[in-house]
Amino acid sequence: MFDIKTELTTNPKEKPAPEELGFGHFFSDHMFILDYTDGVGWHDPRIVPYQPISLDPSAMIFHYGQSVFEGLKAYVTVDNDALLFRADQNFKRLNRSNERLCIPAIDEELALEGLKQLVTVDRDWIPNNPGTSLYIRPFIIATEPNLGVHPSKKYHFIIIMSPSGSYYKEGINPVKILVEEQFVRAVKGGTGEAKTGGNYASALKGQEIASREGYAQTLWLDGKENKYIEEVGSMNIFFKINGIVITPALNGSILPGITRDSMIQVLKFKGIPVEERQISIDEVVEAHQNGTLEEVFGTGTAAVISPVGELKYLDDKMSINKGEIGEISQMLYDTLTGLQYGSIDDTFGWTI
Ligand code: PMP
Repeated sequence: MFDIKTELTTNPKEKPAPEELGFGHFFSDHMFILDYTDGVGWHDPRIVPYQPISLDPSAMIFHYGQSVFEGLKAYVTVDNDALLFRADQNFKRLNRSNERLCIPAIDEELALEGLKQLVTVDRDWIPNNPGTSLYIRPFIIATEPNLGVHPSKKYHFIIIMSPSGSYYKEGINPVKILVEEQFVRAVKGGTGEAKTGGNYASALKGQEIASREGYAQTLWLDGKENKYIEEVGSMNIFFKINGIVITPALNGSILPGITRDSMIQVLKFKGIPVEERQISIDEVVEAHQNGTLEEVFGTGTAAVISPVGELKYLDDKMSINKGEIGEISQMLYDTLTGLQYGSIDDTFGWTI
């Protein structure tokens, strides 16, 4: 249906050993590219050898940050099939980010077809040790050579892929999270719910502070009152208080995580009470004090699920579930990875 040209590499790279994978260090042999030119639209979908791209120093991406990106994974299943998880949702979200950043919409079906062909070409790059996967990074950058502040008239849409181990060095073990009280990540009406580079650049400072204090990531509070919980650096956040699982409602400044949505659906399917609502840091502190804060966990593509063993807010270091993995966290992790590695039946229709 789509005419995607493929140019195979004549110089395939050596694949890294499973133990040296880490996250985002290595890249597969090929990449997918699609160009946009004003008046023509998106054109020339192609798979080419992974290579540097050449841009004019005045290309708009370097100056005003007009860019969007996505993150998803390909897995090798227990039956040795290559599998994508809800990839259609990533391209839907990419288009919502595009809309916010004044970038022309892509054809989601073309993007998915391009991705499938790319994964097929680089099939051998999907690592198959437990917990490993091929991380996929679709992104769009503004390439028009022009210093005027306006939406670019030219773009590249590119998909690159990186064989990856577990995201956190701690693996599925609980992580320590620092609640950021000085800086904010996003405000209502801003770009928080779009997946755009600027959100991550502005979050670096908080991440730096957290790392310096020995914490894995930052937990962001709302940009207006510094009171309501939003999300973690690259994860959405869930709290189990008194038997009920609570996650902040999507309010315009939170990234609508695909793992978040999947977890909510799994919880509902299992009959576990789950609420999407505003939740303040004070409510969490209070629940901790009266012994009803049972579990805290983050969800995201890279980490899948990350139980939180310690949450630090101001001078209060809250230890959660004695720093151990909670029952719900474990169940969700097992369900999601079971679906992703094909060891349990996909009753949700999420795998591709
Ligand atoms: N929040 C932020 C800020 C993120 O970068 C991510 C990772 N994409 C998430 C949440 C989780 O989203 P997803 O489950 O789609 O990976």
